[in-house]
Amino acid sequence: MSSAFDWKSPTQLLIGGRWVDAEARQTLSVENPATQEEVTRVADGTPADARAALEAAAQAFATWRQTSVYERSRLLRRWYDLVEQDRANLGRLMTIENGKPLSEADAEVTYAASFIEWFSEEAKRAYGRTIPATRAEKRILVLRQPIGIVAAITPWNFPAAMITRKVAPAIAAGCSVVLKPASQTPLTALRLGELLEEAGAPAGLLNIVTSSHAGQIADVWLDDARVRKITFTGSTGVGKHLMRRAAGNMQRLSLELGGQAPFVVFGDADLEVTLDALMVAKFRNGGQSCIAANRVLVEENIVDEFLVRASQRVANLRVGQGLEPGVAVGPMIDAAGREKVMEHIQDALAHGARLGAGGHAIEGAGYFVEPTLLANVGLDMKIMHEETFGPVLAVSSFKTEKEAVETANATEFGLAAYLFTQDAGRAWRVAEALDYGVIGLNDGLPSTSQAPFGGFKESGLGREGAEEGLDAFLETKYVSWGAVGVGPQG
Ligand code: NAP
Repeated sequence: MSSAFDWKSPTQLLIGGRWVDAEARQTLSVENPATQEEVTRVADGTPADARAALEAAAQAFATWRQTSVYERSRLLRRWYDLVEQDRANLGRLMTIENGKPLSEADAEVTYAASFIEWFSEEAKRAYGRTIPATRAEKRILVLRQPIGIVAAITPWNFPAAMITRKVAPAIAAGCSVVLKPASQTPLTALRLGELLEEAGAPAGLLNIVTSSHAGQIADVWLDDARVRKITFTGSTGVGKHLMRRAAGNMQRLSLELGGQAPFVVFGDADLEVTLDALMVAKFRNGGQSCIAANRVLVEENIVDEFLVRASQRVANLRVGQGLEPGVAVGPMIDAAGREKVMEHIQDALAHGARLGAGGHAIEGAGYFVEPTLLANVGLDMKIMHEETFGPVLAVSSFKTEKEAVETANATEFGLAAYLFTQDAGRAWRVAEALDYGVIGLNDGLPSTSQAPFGGFKESGLGREGAEEGLDAFLETKYVSWGAVGVGPQG
């Protein structure tokens, strides 16, 4: 274990309110992607552990589903307070296991905590309704009830927020949870679990199985009909696999998958505001965000000025270890992540793109890539179709609004799109024409706990955050009540 970091996080599995070793006594290595050093090792859970976690969740569900929404709300509020108090520690954990700059890790703590706060309040609003019936003596009552045991599988790029965005609404709805966090960022997950325990969660309400055997862990939960909901954030490929497998037990699904966000800039946009937003939309988390701007489409009449100003900004970004002050871009998560980014850069250059900044992998320890700007990017290049997940700003130009919309929509993904203009009519037209679940209109950071986040097309199913985020963990039932005994009594 590295002693260079002063951090607090358990390293065992959380099952039934106890911290336990993996049944097979194996551990998996957690690496700092900025140094390639092992930070620590955590329990490497097996299918037996996944089953034990499920049994614990089943026991917890039997009683948690009966609690009042006020009790759930109070537990979440205590969790929120503890997460806020642990902000510095959680931020450091994220930086050492994910690589993101400390300032971004701190911002992620805020974002992650905001889901706990939001759903601590939203818990109280799982309203049902009554519907007037056809017959005078009948009443129809609509009830909203917890969906059941929830299996959550989360990615490494937002190690805290992707967990709270699922676990907080599940708890608010009255569900218990089994969670498999990404094997590359288990420490943040385990610490969040520890804080929920400290907040007074009943044993088994949240169970965490860290593991390098993702498929086998998921299989246990997919094959057990007591699990009523699979909530997943990650790649589209794994999402499709889960969707196929969930058919066996007709488990409900929420899938937050990949993106290929266009960032459309019209000639009338305020360029300074646009570039500020672009730097966030593109370089946050080193470009490893599902809503990262992947294709920047700029109106022809301003593209030259845009390129000059954007290149300067990209060249000025400081790359390095996230714990160092002033660092804006950390490493890629691993060697495969870096290879994919380099492949996109090389493919674009081979097909006629021009380099405006960066363009190289950085030698030495850590999976670093220079912040890169590519101009003259064309539709025949990989970067225009695949998710790059790296610090590469790819710019191409368009002539008309119609062309911009068509190019923006020419992808199987549909998560987020950005649109910059000062023309209100155009803003409405284009926002409505874009086939995406999230539109950043003069906004480079649209994600927030109050809004229903999620994608069209191959970017997924369902929404997280807002009232939809609670809905995802509720089942609807109606009671048709005949002969209610109304009317004059003799
Ligand atoms: P990934 O490979 O799909 O992994 C995500 C999670 O799924 C991890 O916990 C992983 O475990 C697990 N997993 C892998 N194979 C599995 C299988 N066969 N069955 C069940 N679980 C399995 O995705 P990633 O590379 O970590 O994350 C990046 C992707 O997530 C990108 O496409 C990004 O756009 C997407 N994402 C989407 C959103 C959104 O809200 N739409 C947000 C963030 C990220 P291991 O860690 O052990 O492999």
